Amino acid sequence: MTFNQLELTEPLQKAVQKAGYKNPTPIQAQSIQAILDGRDILGCAQTGTGKTAAFSIPTIQLLSRNNGTTERKRAIRSLILTPTRELAIQIGESLEQYGSFSNLRSLVIFGGVPQHSQVQALKQGIDILVATPGWLLDLMDQGYISLSQLEIFTLDEADRMLDMGFVHDVKKVIKKIPAKRQTLFFSATMPDAILDLANSILNNPLKVEVTPPSSTAEMIGQEVYFIDKSNKKKLLIDLLKSGDEDRILVFTRTKHGANKVVKDLTKTGIKAEAIHGNKTQNARQKALKNFKDKSTRVLVATDIAARGIDIDELALVINYEIPNISETYVHRIGRTGRAGASGKAISFCDYEEKAYLKDIQKLIDQKIPVIEDHSYPMEVFEVPEKKPQQQRGNRNQQRKSSGAGSGQKSGRNRFERSKNK
Ligand code: AMP
Repeated sequence: MTFNQLELTEPLQKAVQKAGYKNPTPIQAQSIQAILDGRDILGCAQTGTGKTAAFSIPTIQLLSRNNGTTERKRAIRSLILTPTRELAIQIGESLEQYGSFSNLRSLVIFGGVPQHSQVQALKQGIDILVATPGWLLDLMDQGYISLSQLEIFTLDEADRMLDMGFVHDVKKVIKKIPAKRQTLFFSATMPDAILDLANSILNNPLKVEVTPPSSTAEMIGQEVYFIDKSNKKKLLIDLLKSGDEDRILVFTRTKHGANKVVKDLTKTGIKAEAIHGNKTQNARQKALKNFKDKSTRVLVATDIAARGIDIDELALVINYEIPNISETYVHRIGRTGRAGASGKAISFCDYEEKAYLKDIQKLIDQKIPVIEDHSYPMEVFEVPEKKPQQQRGNRNQQRKSSGAGSGQKSGRNRFERSKNK
């Protein structure tokens, strides 16, 4: 399918051309026309699949169609709710890109920054608002935002909203928007709690499921090093010194861990910055900018902070620690190999993490090649005293709630899961 086969108006066709897109991605091919036709969407897709364009392009076209036909004051007609500030900013950038030939105004709002400029922009009138839920409610409570004219409501990364404890806020927002509207609902996974929410707000949606995350892994060159925790730092430094990749994303499980890695790398002269929830919005944006323009070679991130970061041509992702939720691994390595490009993902696995690795391999239905010949082979073959049992227990619980345990490769339609139970 080509973009010409979709009924896009000239401003959108031009924007797509300018972005350099040749063909719609599967989620775009399946949803854009349906959204233009007014359908609700229940989309199962993660970042990296082109879902932002899948909802942004038709939203811009629909709002442009009704733009200026009557004398009206500009009002918020589309709301896009997203869990993180980074994701909100990226969606805002995409809207600007796809809307560059359309006469609409969009605005991104999030907390942690002075609200004055956001309030000023709101007062001038905007068409599309991108927001994180808590901050949106805050500004609504202060009387700066009215959603009474809302036509299209998009909920992005619904499962992450649940993980981050935002679902209550999302429900509050839903109560404040018109019942008569078009709703576009996207989530990377479809656990029951998310399906229940979707069913309660969607009207006969078109269900769209793009390639499950597990198959993303097939395009990415993966390697695992078995290594003791205490040697991970040395291996990381060796790999960074011998490799020629100009941008490397390193994942740690904790904020503290991310700071520590940055400190270790900086000491050896490798330029690194951390991005995590304890950093101010400005610091995060600055780190991201430095990484994008290649003035920082290594970005060390926690999973929540990394969610939604879109960096093109990222050649290498390193899992300094193996995530205890298998799907997180797939999300992490999906940072490389975006939109069809190939990439590489290296994982450092200590003895305690072997159980996580086993689960990951089961999920992706692949055995990750082991690099046997390296300077720091594993020597500690026992799990330290601290609660391994409890950790595995938590993991199973979380996997259950994220729907990860139900076998991505089974071919079973994820939308059907709750019914099959
Ligand atoms: P997303 O899943 O929305 O985070 O998009 C992932 C990446 O794919 C972004 O860098 C987009 O610019 C890119 N992208 C989106 N749609 C297309 C397309 N049709 N062709 C090529 N790249 C695309």
